[in-house]
Amino acid sequence: MYVKGIRKLFQFSKYVLKKISLNSNIAQAFLRHDNRFRLVCPTCGVTTTLNRIVPQTARDLPLGTALYVVLTYEALQGYCVQCGEYHTLHPSGINVHARATDRLMAFVSQLCRYMPLIHAAEIVGISAATAYRWDKKWLTSHLPEPDLDDLRILLIDEKSVRKRHGYVILVMNGENGELLHMAEGKKKQSLQSFFDKLTKKQKARIIAVAIDRAGAYRAVVTEQLPHADIVFDKFHLIMNYNEVIDQVRRQEWRKANEEDKKVIKGQRYNLFRNPENRTEKQTLSLKALLKINENLNHVYVLKEAFRHLWTYTYRACAEKYLLKWVSWANESKIEQLMKFAKSLLRSKDEILNYCRHQITTGRLESFNNTVSRIIHRACGVKNLDYLFLKLRQESINGNLQK
Ligand SMILES: [Zn+2]
Repeated sequence: MYVKGIRKLFQFSKYVLKKISLNSNIAQAFLRHDNRFRLVCPTCGVTTTLNRIVPQTARDLPLGTALYVVLTYEALQGYCVQCGEYHTLHPSGINVHARATDRLMAFVSQLCRYMPLIHAAEIVGISAATAYRWDKKWLTSHLPEPDLDDLRILLIDEKSVRKRHGYVILVMNGENGELLHMAEGKKKQSLQSFFDKLTKKQKARIIAVAIDRAGAYRAVVTEQLPHADIVFDKFHLIMNYNEVIDQVRRQEWRKANEEDKKVIKGQRYNLFRNPENRTEKQTLSLKALLKINENLNHVYVLKEAFRHLWTYTYRACAEKYLLKWVSWANESKIEQLMKFAKSLLRSKDEILNYCRHQITTGRLESFNNTVSRIIHRACGVKNLDYLFLKLRQESINGNLQK
């Protein structure tokens, strides 16, 4: 039987397709060395003599109904007199160590981007461990190195990746969303290891860094980038404020009589929610709560007022507003609120730096969902290097789509 064009499916340089045998679900392709090419030493380029022929196999991409495709070829071992070394010729595009073609490994890696390892493995008919190894290998050799030139804005945050205290620190390019660094732990050293990779010139270009004020990172950033502005992240600050609301809610609950307790009950998230995210029913029950409890009403109103701080673009106006907000907080005489206001004054500069750069760790925060999805797909985190590769892949591809 003569089938036109099938050779084009099996083009491996210096080899030609000799024959192919197809069953419904298995195909075997036989490659032979193309005699027009002499055996040469890869080191010095001198023609070498054939020492022996080693039969080899490699898995290849599925073909038609055949899921299991095996290439069978003769690897030629030559001996170079000049170098005094043996060398072996394989068809190009075959990963000898993995005993698979590069294109199959690329295919598996592609599948692993959209489904859990075990499913990708099932489609191709390999073990999940092999799918993991191939995906990791392919990503390692094909993903570009993090681009550390032309960095201007950095976003830094941490993310829990294991159930108990397994944190990693993530550093992202705030302008294009590329994930640049991931390290275990949330201590200073985890961030320091990022700055160790930067040259003086690369550091000098960075103008602003968004971080959570609670972390241990501030000191590292100040030391490494004394010229850059630190911006305390808006969303973290609002989250901190929600904790204040929660403290006041608990306190009011303890003081309340049985009837009022019924109104306070179940309103925790209602107090955190932004008005635009509330249903009508939620709004009604929140209104009832704010009506009966003055302190909760106070912290709630000040929350809306607090969010307003990030609408200013002029620093002087923002500063004036922040001071006004602090005075409102102090007038309330609610202890927790006053304490929070005092802490804001201590980090006034870092909060107001937002006006100049308008950056938040929001982009990194939403990337957290991607992190969770990938951890779930990879069935937990066996290997942090692999997780970093997968995250980098998403952060770069997400970019190209834009
Ligand atoms: Zn040689």
